[in-house]
Amino acid sequence: MQSSATRLLLAVSLLGAASSFKWMENFQMPSIVNIGKSMQADSKFGAKKLVVITGTSSGLGKMTARALLRTGQYHVVGGVRDLDKMEAVAEVEEFDMDCFTPMELDLNSFSSVHNFCDELDAFRSGKPIDRLVCNAAVYQPSLDYAKFSEDGHEQQMQTNFLSHFLMISKLMPEMGDAPDPRVTLVGSVTGNDNTVGGGGVYPVADLKDLEGLGAGAKDPISMIDGYNFNGAKGYKDSKLCLMMLSNMLHDKYHKQTGIAFSSIYPGCIAESPLFREKRPWFRKYFPVFMKFVTGGFVGEEEAGQRLFQVMHDPRCSKSGVYWGWNGGPREGRGAEAIEKGGQIAGAGGAGGGWDSIFENDQSDKVCDVEKSAMLWKYTTQITGAEWPAAYQPKSPCPTLTVVAAATSLLNRKEELERMKPKAGMVASSGSAGMPSGGGAPAVLDQVFKKVLGELPDEAVGTAAR
Ligand code: NAP
Repeated sequence: MQSSATRLLLAVSLLGAASSFKWMENFQMPSIVNIGKSMQADSKFGAKKLVVITGTSSGLGKMTARALLRTGQYHVVGGVRDLDKMEAVAEVEEFDMDCFTPMELDLNSFSSVHNFCDELDAFRSGKPIDRLVCNAAVYQPSLDYAKFSEDGHEQQMQTNFLSHFLMISKLMPEMGDAPDPRVTLVGSVTGNDNTVGGGGVYPVADLKDLEGLGAGAKDPISMIDGYNFNGAKGYKDSKLCLMMLSNMLHDKYHKQTGIAFSSIYPGCIAESPLFREKRPWFRKYFPVFMKFVTGGFVGEEEAGQRLFQVMHDPRCSKSGVYWGWNGGPREGRGAEAIEKGGQIAGAGGAGGGWDSIFENDQSDKVCDVEKSAMLWKYTTQITGAEWPAAYQPKSPCPTLTVVAAATSLLNRKEELERMKPKAGMVASSGSAGMPSGGGAPAVLDQVFKKVLGELPDEAVGTAAR
């Protein structure tokens, strides 16, 4: 008589062999609807890549969209909170409206993020998203009291970070089929405390033990660290979170999806409307200081070229990188800056050109894996984001599939045995993923007998025992 374990092994092997064809379960006969959709997508986009950028109505986002559209190789969807403003901006900037689609998105509201993703889904007619750029942000350093979003979160935290987190979770599954998919998060030197701008100017970005986020970060809790509100710190913390998120996405999903996840520091775009909430004297003198003293200034157009490069340059399909240009904000000051009105493009200034791109260093805080794991967990709870299971791609070897299927069931049976109460066992008795008492193998045994009948001992190699 063959042992039930051997029979079980054989049964599971057969099931395992069948499961090597599991990839076919996703196979769908092309339906009329799918064929129709794909024809629609072809006529809408042709060979153009589909780019989604948040905040194309101003500053960096506007200039990046302009640079992308000028190539004629991209269709850009701009997620904006004010469609009328976007329409006016697109007209002034002469956007080709056949290749630019503005869509309503208020990052201060999770329901708006959901609506935007649904509208985008209907619009793209099954075309995968080639690029996703999380660019929109608010900066509220002068507020004495926190302003809260529709969902009750501090506005900078939600606009800059929480809503983008939710958006990526919803759009990432629509990117895997693109040939060279990229997700880019616009970070900042201010969230990176290994720089003078980020580490030398109070307040410094620091999530501490994320007690505010862990407690739900809802009004009146305004800061991720759970301490009292500081507007400048709220902005810097949100940028730190984005850069940590880029690294987490890379670690979890790059291998399985092929998506390149990166963050960037575009340079100090001191004349952009980002500083609209700063006092007038600051808005007047900050650009002068950045142009002629630190040399960190970069014009909106040049900054747009930088973000465009991360979308377009084949080098930037590398994942897990924090992109910077020309050694960061160090050069370009003094006589040369004065000659050129601070607008220095190309090597030698903070406005370093195409070839001055480099893989920038990230601070210890950005690379802190323990805090990143807490950040991921709490933000997922707060936003209700649903992430696909992360896995490392496996060899498609069918033998491995069969052996893994067989051993996993036997392992679970052994594990159940090990979970029987004994002295020294402190863990609660578990199920090892199957009903206790070995029910599953017994059932399989019966199924196997019914399908194949009793196997002769010789067939399963137990005769000699
Ligand atoms: P900006 O000109 O103020 O652009 C910000 C964009 O975000 C605008 O289009 C704005 O829309 C949009 N936005 C704000 N709140 C929104 C919301 N609730 N929903 C949807 N969109 C919203 O600033 P910028 O300088 O171009 O900044 C762009 C990115 O670069 C930001 O991530 C910023 O942190 C980063 N950055 C900037 C600097 C700099 O020196 N400026 C330096 C480092 C990094 P409206 O047009 O309606 O206002």
